[in-house]
Amino acid sequence: MSRILTWIKDRVKLLRSMRLWLFVMTFAIGLLPCIMLSHVLLSSYERKAIDIRTADVTNQLHIISDHLITHKYMQVNSSESIDAELSQLSNLYNGRILIIDQDLRIIKDTYGISQNKIIVSQEVIRAFRGETVSNYDDQDGYIEISMPIIENVVTDDNGSQSVIRGVMLTSVSSDTIINTQDSLRDISRLVNYLVAVALFVIAVSASAIVTIPLKRLVLSISDVKEGYTSNPVMVRDYLETENISDAFNSVLARLKLLDDSRQEFVANVSHELKTPMTSMKVLADSLLVQDEVPAELYKEFMGDITREIDRENQIISDLLSLVKMDKTSSDLYISQVDINALIELVLKRLRPIARKKNIELEFVSMRQVDAMVDEVKISQVITNLVENAIKYNNDNGSVRVTLDADHQFFTLEVEDTGMGIPEDSREQIFERFYRVDKSHSREIGGTGLGLAITKSAVLMHRGTISVDSVEGEGSTFTVKIPLVYIPQSN
Ligand code: ADP
Repeated sequence: MSRILTWIKDRVKLLRSMRLWLFVMTFAIGLLPCIMLSHVLLSSYERKAIDIRTADVTNQLHIISDHLITHKYMQVNSSESIDAELSQLSNLYNGRILIIDQDLRIIKDTYGISQNKIIVSQEVIRAFRGETVSNYDDQDGYIEISMPIIENVVTDDNGSQSVIRGVMLTSVSSDTIINTQDSLRDISRLVNYLVAVALFVIAVSASAIVTIPLKRLVLSISDVKEGYTSNPVMVRDYLETENISDAFNSVLARLKLLDDSRQEFVANVSHELKTPMTSMKVLADSLLVQDEVPAELYKEFMGDITREIDRENQIISDLLSLVKMDKTSSDLYISQVDINALIELVLKRLRPIARKKNIELEFVSMRQVDAMVDEVKISQVITNLVENAIKYNNDNGSVRVTLDADHQFFTLEVEDTGMGIPEDSREQIFERFYRVDKSHSREIGGTGLGLAITKSAVLMHRGTISVDSVEGEGSTFTVKIPLVYIPQSN
């Protein structure tokens, strides 16, 4: 049962094959016009041939009709030359001619079987009214023509008048036309068969050739399955395959980048977590190897160990924040937040740290701002930026936080009078573990994760963050966040 199902599935799958569709299209597009053309040609040949035959016979009948009048055949009912003419015409077209007088009596039948009989038919009556009527009976294969025999008589006032003396009823066979048509049909059928065979071969090879680049594309994509380091995919045969190759390569490059950054991140995390551990081990070992350690040294070393533990803690909690930020934006807890109040609160918390370096914290509020944001994350953004502005500031410096808004965004600027950031580091400072001056930063207590966390939080709110800085004079970080959070529609 399952085998049959697999077989059916395979067949259905085959129906979606591009190669099959190319084959069907080439074959059908080539053959259909051929069949239609031969059909149209054959039927138009038949119509044309019948028209020509009808015109020919009608002409002949006109001539005979004139002779009938000149030989007064309708009155005397016999004339050798007319009889000869009639039998010649009927032999020529394999037909029968009846001559009917005004009393509807057949005065001449080239078959000789209906002589003197009375005939009443619609065609005869119409001919007596002056009409020439022709019909083609394609079932029995003959053309029937009925035409009046007209004499022009001179009237008393020397005018002329047409008088219908009788009717000629003729039927001629269309066998020769049908035979020619049949042999034409045979030829066209043969031609169609040959065209079908040639088209079959062309369609099979064309569909195979056209799909070769796609096969090569699939093969080279499967070659890349092993890691991201293989050669890039490039099939340039068609613009489309080139575009697919380019798209695939850029996805590959992105994956490689992600993989590299994941590896680098793991290496950095291990290194950062190991550094305080190593310091603690060195401090503890040096206490252990000494027998009589003075109490002050113990105290001093224990103080150092506690600082390293704090640092380790700081790194771990920063890492946890970062991991949380890396998750999807569905982890945002959006609510209406008074941003002015939030800034005041953060500045109040950080004032004691600023005071240690005698740094002035100033808040410039251009307007009252209420925004739909995740309060915890935005508070972390403000804290990180102001903390950095204090950390990387000079003693007696100042930090100014400015808040403004338009109808769409609110803008937060954190400006300091610190050391500034070198031009070539301005992009990198938002990367995880990046620090401009490693030794100095360590001494200050940074983990290199603060701005990475800040940027993630801003991006989660579909905002932007940028930095402007003059070395030795200070830096300004600008954050722009929509007033209303718009979830991403997937
Ligand atoms: P850290 O924990 O080291 O402060 P961050 O990610 O917050 O890590 O900052 C990354 C680096 O950017 C810092 O180490 C510092 O070199 C630089 N930096 C950040 N803010 C400022 C600033 N306001 N002034 C000067 N340099 C800064």
